Amino acid sequence: MSLKLYDTFTNSKIKFDPIDPTNVRMYVCGPTVYDYAHVGNARPVIIFDILFRLLQNIYGTKNVTYVRNITDVDDKIIDAANKASEDIGMLTEKTINYFHDDTKYIGALKPTFEPRATEHIPEMIELIEKLIEKDFAYVAEGNVLFSSSKFSEYGKLSGKDLSEMIAGSRVNVENYKRTESDFVLWKPSKEDEPSWNSPWGNGRPGWHIECSAMSEKLLGESFDIHGGGQDLIFPHHENEIAQSECANGKKFANYWVHNGFVTVEGNKMSKSDGNFVTVNELKDNFQGEVIRLAMISTHYRQPLNWTIANLEESKKTLDKWYSYLESFNEGELDVADNDSDIMEALLDDLNTPKAISILHQKFKNCEAGNISLASNFLSAANMLGLLSDKPSEWLTWKQENMNINKAQVELLIAQRNEARVNKNFNKADEIRDELDKMGITLEDKGGETDWKVK
Ligand SMILES: [Zn+2]
Repeated sequence: MSLKLYDTFTNSKIKFDPIDPTNVRMYVCGPTVYDYAHVGNARPVIIFDILFRLLQNIYGTKNVTYVRNITDVDDKIIDAANKASEDIGMLTEKTINYFHDDTKYIGALKPTFEPRATEHIPEMIELIEKLIEKDFAYVAEGNVLFSSSKFSEYGKLSGKDLSEMIAGSRVNVENYKRTESDFVLWKPSKEDEPSWNSPWGNGRPGWHIECSAMSEKLLGESFDIHGGGQDLIFPHHENEIAQSECANGKKFANYWVHNGFVTVEGNKMSKSDGNFVTVNELKDNFQGEVIRLAMISTHYRQPLNWTIANLEESKKTLDKWYSYLESFNEGELDVADNDSDIMEALLDDLNTPKAISILHQKFKNCEAGNISLASNFLSAANMLGLLSDKPSEWLTWKQENMNINKAQVELLIAQRNEARVNKNFNKADEIRDELDKMGITLEDKGGETDWKVK
């Protein structure tokens, strides 16, 4: 059985054939470092970690190269630093440390390379020069722009029609752009903004060029898998293709793998609505594998609804599994072999929900004291990055806030009140039940709802 992946480019699940099985190469767009990572950022970290582990299993650990970049120069970073009156370098360094803490917490292996944009400016300048030379880019008022109309295949990943894009958006076109869909490769820096010397004056790169330059440097002009969140398909990945294919005249990436969106308690994640969940804030209440299990319980291409109830469920499952493993002595179980059932599920476009149901089944079949069944169960779980803690440590881990995330409780109460105002009493009851499962009692009085821990 061979690996099949759903490829966004062909819109179909296709067999994976690497360019070189002794050097399988994957690039995934990483974080822009100005704030704590939220659960939406954690999803690709976990999904592509599962794929990285699987590729290592198939082709050998040394034969897989995984690159995940860090965007450490960007408008959002500059804005955040200005707002906090903080030095940009300090802000990015601090945020990179947070990000590394988070990825370790959720059990993600380190990628082979984690290049930072600011350390690859010369490569970006070189690539931009190549695009200008080949007439795919032009200089206007200190900016360098990619000329989208020169690339007849522009829009091929997202299926967008260039003429529609142009016709649809005549407003707010910067006057140095020849066409609305042209995008910035290089732009002048304002005073106090990070700035590098270039043939077009002091400035800084646009966002898209860094991934083309860094993937080429570390993986070559063509490589196997390009991944990221669905929201990156357009314009980011479309623009990466345009830059790299026009510069090199070669196919950029052979497989495009994208994970779906994340909602929180059924709502779009947004800071202003108070349902913005960072990975960091989960650390007091849940062990990292709880986050991981909750995350991979939904197939990566489906939208993921992040709920406290799912976290509680995942915690219960892992507690049960670790309790069983604790009955064996340390080193007694043998985890040398891959499990073929889990392998089969993962080879089918990373079918993690199926893999988890297989784990449940295997657990059911486990017997007290049976080393061989327990070893197989543990090996199977390890393939998903689960059950890698010491059972005794897992079981003595203390939740700091009695498992209650106040912001989540208050969000659910607000949703329940809204449901009651709209006379949607079924929904209101459902939310009350969910809170009840979390150990929260509600008290309604005088139009207000108080809550307390049971
Ligand atoms: Zn990228």
